[in-house]
Amino acid sequence: MVQVIEWVNPGEDEIIWRYPNEVIKWGAQLIVHEYEVAVFMRDGKIYDVLGPGRHTLTTQNLPLLYRLVGGSNSPFKATVIFVSMKQFQGRYGGETQTRELAPVKYYGVYWFKVADPVLFITEVVGGQSLYDTSDVTKFIRAYFNEGMMKHLSAYSIVDLFQNLDMVSTQVKVKLMEDFRRLGLELVDVKIEGVNTTDEWRQRLFWIMQTGNAQAVMQMDTAKQVAAELGKSEGAGLGTGMVIMPQLLQQPAQPAQPAQPYAGGGVPPAGYQNPQQPAQQAAPAAQQQEICPYCGKPIPPGARFCPYCGHEIKRCPNGHIVPEGAKFCPVCGAKIE
Ligand SMILES: [Zn+2]
Ligand SMILES: [Zn+2]
Repeated sequence: MVQVIEWVNPGEDEIIWRYPNEVIKWGAQLIVHEYEVAVFMRDGKIYDVLGPGRHTLTTQNLPLLYRLVGGSNSPFKATVIFVSMKQFQGRYGGETQTRELAPVKYYGVYWFKVADPVLFITEVVGGQSLYDTSDVTKFIRAYFNEGMMKHLSAYSIVDLFQNLDMVSTQVKVKLMEDFRRLGLELVDVKIEGVNTTDEWRQRLFWIMQTGNAQAVMQMDTAKQVAAELGKSEGAGLGTGMVIMPQLLQQPAQPAQPAQPYAGGGVPPAGYQNPQQPAQQAAPAAQQQEICPYCGKPIPPGARFCPYCGHEIKRCPNGHIVPEGAKFCPVCGAKIE
């Protein structure tokens, strides 16, 4: 009876399949379907590779193995691994830290396919001794996640939440390079969401409201800042709080002498000098508002962000307030 070597009915998600019999006879029928490649290995080394088609195994189409087995026509030992060249989809999700060590969770989808089966078998299948699809898939997902963690951690929390499109594009290019090293082509990556802790969301809120990441980072917790600012005038504000009027880009109060920019160095872009007359400062409601959750511009007075759908909490005077804040950080009004 003729030996038939064929990957019968591969499943949708199957990347590789190892032919269970390691004894191969010359004259065996090797059937390689479209989008498949058959790789002959022995002792962890790759010998011959055959593409789609129906092959009768001869000394001619397996020249490397034939040389190895010493020109004998008796059955020989080899591992046949089929590799699917189709495109696969994987989901990912993980946790990393931003440049400021803010914890960030992320999740999304990626698409990949085998581009170089020999490199793929060398690096992943043989290299890691992973001979079934579920192990290979797990390895690829872990590898993707590791790369994602590493590349995302190079960014600031503001970039992740305000410029996610730009970050995605840059991270994708880096991950594509990582994948190429495994003989894989990373076709596309989609970051569906990023998230952080309540505390960092509050900090992010302040950074977006004030445009001054550095100053906000120096404060202990943003929640404390919000609570402190909500208290009555001069009620034991800590030294760090003095900076807040400038941070909030509020016109200086008439009684107060105008102060220079307190952050030191060059004021950040968008920083308004509080020395300008109060009546010239645009009222808060007319300034371009941004969603503190996704960073996109929202219509004035919006109750919900049209981009991310997040509820926008406001004080009775219309200022955007952080989630959970008891007092408006801008005017000090009590939040019901
Ligand atoms: Zn939003
Ligand atoms: Zn207010």
